[in-house]
This record gives sequence, C-alpha cells and structure tokens, in this order.
Amino acid sequence: MKLRDILNQKGIAFSCEFFPPKTDKGEENLWNCIQELKVVNPAYVSVTYGAGGSTQDRTKRIVTRIKAETNLDPVAHLTCVGSTQEQLGVLLDEYQAAGIENILALRGDAPEGMDKFKAVSGGFSYATDLTRFIHERGGFSIGVASYPEGHPESRGGVEDDIRYLKMKQDDGADAVITQYFFNNDDFYHFRDLATAAGVTIPLIPGIMPIGNYDQVARFSAMCGANIPAWIGERMIPHREESDTMKAMGIEIATEQCADLIRNGVQGLHIYSLNKSEATIAIHKNLGL
Ligand SMILES: Cc1cc2nc3c(=O)[nH]c(=O)nc-3n(C[C@H](O)[C@H](O)[C@H](O)COP(=O)(O)OP(=O)(O)OC[C@H]3O[C@@H](n4cnc5c(N)ncnc54)[C@H](O)[C@@H]3O)c2cc1C
Repeated sequence: MKLRDILNQKGIAFSCEFFPPKTDKGEENLWNCIQELKVVNPAYVSVTYGAGGSTQDRTKRIVTRIKAETNLDPVAHLTCVGSTQEQLGVLLDEYQAAGIENILALRGDAPEGMDKFKAVSGGFSYATDLTRFIHERGGFSIGVASYPEGHPESRGGVEDDIRYLKMKQDDGADAVITQYFFNNDDFYHFRDLATAAGVTIPLIPGIMPIGNYDQVARFSAMCGANIPAWIGERMIPHREESDTMKAMGIEIATEQCADLIRNGVQGLHIYSLNKSEATIAIHKNLGL
C-alpha cells in the first residue's frame, strides 16, 4: 500500500526503521527481528540507504525481500549521495518492477572520509530535487525527512528548513518523517511553524528508544539532536547496567509517545535499529 493511503487510515501508524546489516549474520538477525515485530503489525517498515555501492545493494535486497516474503509495506530510503540521475532512475525502475510503492527521498550525508556532502556530476544537490525527480517519474508515494531542532547545516535555522519542507510538499512529498528528538515541545513548535507555512502533509515523529546512553549521545552530537539533561541524570548512573538502561529507555520513549498521541500525531516512527525488544515493549505499553 502507498504511504499516503496508509497514513490516511484511522489510528496511529506505528512504523519501524531498519538498516542494512554489513554481514550475513547481521542480515539473519534482521530477519529474526522482522519476524518478532509481526506482533506489532507495523503500518510500514523503512530501510536506510548507505553511502557505498555494496550497502546500497543490501538496501535493495532487503526491501525487495520484505515485499516478496512478508505482508509488510516497505519504504526504501534513497539518497542523492554518489548517484547520477540516470543511476537513480535505474534503481527506481527496479523498485517499481519489484512492486515497491514507497520511497523516502533524502539528500544523504557525506560518505566517510569526506567532510561535506557534494553532489556528483549529473546528480542532485538537495532532497527537493530528488523528490521532484521521483514524483515526475510517477508510481511512488514519497516520504521526506525533517528536523524539529533544525538541520545541522541549515543557515537560516528551522524557518529555513521549513521553507524547503514546503518545497518538498509542492514537489510531490506525501509525508514527513522527522529526525528523532527527546523534547516534544521542539516537535510541537516545528509543527506549528510548518502548519503556518502551509505544510499539510502528515508529520510523523521519529522516536529513538535509548538502549545505550553513550552510543545515542555520540550519534546525537553528530546529527544535532539534543538530549535533555534530565535524561542524562537518570541514565548515566546506570550506564554499566544494560538491562536497567534498556528498561529506562523504553519507559522514556513510552512517555514521549503517549504525549505525542495526546497531541494528535498520525504516526510514530520507531528507530528500531534491527532490534525488536524496545519497539514491541513501547507498542504494548501504549496499548496500540
Ligand atoms: C527519517 C530520516 C531518515 C534518514 N535516512 C537516511 C538514510 O537512509 N541514508 C542516509 O545517508 N541518510 C539518512 N538520513 C540523514 C539525512 O540524509 C541527512 O540528515 C542529510 O544531511 C539531510 O538530508 P535531507 O533529506 O533532510 O536533505 P535536504 O532536505 O536536502 O536538506 C539538507 C540541507 O539543505 C537545505 N536545503 C534543502 N533543500 C534546499 C534547497 N532546495 N536549496 C538550498 N538549500 C536546501 C536544508 O535546509 C538543509 O540544511 C535520514 C534522516 C532522517 C530524518
């Protein structure tokens, strides 16, 4: 089913995000995770897209296998990194032939070893360009990304990002999945500004259940997500106790999701990171 139709259905669209593992063992673990997640009946599942050729092939393999072997609706992430328009077109044709209906159109980040994103000759510079390209070719429902705390590179802050988000909507995007955040007020402020700017497509909050505080803190510093002090105060004393840490992460994410539901979100996108435990627990706690 297409993302836009999934999000038009009643109820909260509870979805999960996976990444393509680097090894066969990792891929086997992912398949176990997908089997376990059947209990939450995800509205859709998305698979991230890496910067290099082999990881990009793995994304395609996993997305097409999900489509062929499960009754889940996959969303294939696709970035502008390292690809010409022609190469992107070939991949989109392959996805279409495999019955894939949904693409998350992203700019992507600089590959390892490069300090800044740079479009390849014949490629795209921004997710707005990729969104328009996919829309003009037709056949897919398109999701895009956004950042309630502002994209780390944005020159004019959140307001600037929202201008580009509105462009993505005008260029054919059907839904927005946000970067994860921990302070819901940042999301509500972003949503108010986006609504005022004419953004009407669903804004789906990205939720990161913290399983390992130090790991999430390192990643958050890179992607510009702020971890409120109260979370650190609660979790840091337990950094050596992985079960306690996981339980706290689930509790914090559950409280965050419950507040978002009370405030009218249409979906919750869980950064499951190829593990099922936290996602299943949050879903159960919310009574969805
Ligand atoms: C839900 C989600 C999933 C993600 N999945 C992946 C993934 O699978 N693989 C991966 O590599 N990365 C992924 N990312 C990370 C993402 O690719 C990076 O954060 C990247 O830096 C920005 O991507 P974007 O699509 O938001 O880019 P853009 O929308 O292009 O924005 C990038 C910057 O350019 C500005 N901008 C946007 N449009 C224009 C324009 N037309 N003119 C001038 N400036 C503009 C924006 O304000 C922003 O500062 C994901 C992020 C999110 C939130």
